[in-house]
Amino acid sequence: MKAIVLLSGGLDSAVNLAWACREGEAVLALTFAYGQRAAEREKEAARRLAAFYGVPWQVVELPFLAEITRTALVNREKEVPVPAELSGEEAERTARAVWVPNRNGLFINIAAAFAESLGADAIVVGFNREEGTTFPDNTPEFMEACNRALAFSTLNRPRVVSYTVAMDKAQIGMAARRLRVPLQMVWSCYHGGEEQCGRCESCQRLKRALAAVEQEGEG
Ligand SMILES: [Zn+2]
Repeated sequence: MKAIVLLSGGLDSAVNLAWACREGEAVLALTFAYGQRAAEREKEAARRLAAFYGVPWQVVELPFLAEITRTALVNREKEVPVPAELSGEEAERTARAVWVPNRNGLFINIAAAFAESLGADAIVVGFNREEGTTFPDNTPEFMEACNRALAFSTLNRPRVVSYTVAMDKAQIGMAARRLRVPLQMVWSCYHGGEEQCGRCESCQRLKRALAAVEQEGEG
């Protein structure tokens, strides 16, 4: 399997990169910069992870997304909401607040163009089950729909693959440990400060994943 890996620099994408390298050859890691708050930190994390795995790495700039979207992820005037709990209505509200229109659809379609030109047969994405409940473009159904569309829009028909799509964050944390992913290189925070904030939804999910790994280590 030759894969293009979508690499945001977060835990899920790092685990999928490691997994893709184990299953076959990752011919390119792609990082998208779309004006998100954490773009610089994410690029740095992705660059280091790609170098660690010896995978060619490229940044794709999508500056227009910041201009057409008003959500907190790109809009500096809005606060990124801090959910008290990561489920139910609260999570729904948070999800809407960080929504970027057709983000994963764009990423996958851009990766598909690279896949055809590089002769890659897989596009590896860092989906997970938790986000799939609030983001419809993080689901197996969406992956299947993309595969159907790519059969029309590419000659080599690459498949969208995600090793973590059925896992929650704790399971992904465990997979990271099994695959010896260098977790110190990962950047998960929605914000772009010196340190990860530890409070935003993404940080909370990472903390839970790491806590599960520690518990497993003690048990
Ligand atoms: Zn954070």
